[in-house]
Amino acid sequence: MSLISDNLQAVLADIRACAVAAGRDPQQVGLLAVSKTFPAEAVLQAARAGQQAFGENYLQEALEKIRVLQILAPELPVEWHFIGPIQSNKTRAIAEHFSWVHSVDREKIAGRLSGQRPIELPPLNICLQVNISGEASKSGVLPEEAAAVALKIAALPHLRLRGLMAVPEPSAGMQEQRQAFRRLRELSEQIRAHGLPLDTLSMGMSADLHAAIAEGSTMLRIGTAIFGSRHYAK
Ligand SMILES: *Cc1c(COP(=O)(O)O)cnc(C)c1O
Repeated sequence: MSLISDNLQAVLADIRACAVAAGRDPQQVGLLAVSKTFPAEAVLQAARAGQQAFGENYLQEALEKIRVLQILAPELPVEWHFIGPIQSNKTRAIAEHFSWVHSVDREKIAGRLSGQRPIELPPLNICLQVNISGEASKSGVLPEEAAAVALKIAALPHLRLRGLMAVPEPSAGMQEQRQAFRRLRELSEQIRAHGLPLDTLSMGMSADLHAAIAEGSTMLRIGTAIFGSRHYAK
């Protein structure tokens, strides 16, 4: 057993306990292991311990890990999720190498991803990122724009709009954390009322996973609690 494997089991146990305490089915709370800044070896350890979904923020770093994992462990069912800011010139490689993108916040980027998704692959799963705390510098569509952008993304042929994603402003208090996540859940319900079959709420990180589970998260994005603290910022 490695440290990463121990951490992973502890996080999974925490998620289960928290889901049960919230009256939710633990199977409905997925875990995305955020491996940014950690080497392919760390991903491999987590994958060997049973983790399938991995989140990456930086394209070049991710492509390298995807390649190494393909070579070292082609038998492991690893699924890659892009969760970082997206520049237009990066959409082709993202469309070619990932199963999910959580950080779509512009119709133009969605259009490029759809157009560049190889037709032999299944549709690219998409979450629309929402600026749920309304911070000026944050990425994400404004809550009031989300439904209109979601309807446009849902109409694109090679994408499958799965839900909403948010990175709320950090706050220490459980009530503040829950408020932001609750706003995202309510927004998702409003968009579903427009007829879009959303099934994903990508919300909750190492510091606020309990609040996110209590408010209905279906995919936690957890880095630090699994891999340790990150030693370089990019
Ligand atoms: C880095 C990152 C995470 C993971 O954060 P931790 O605090 O390490 O769990 C989750 N989501 C996004 C978008 C990230 O960039």
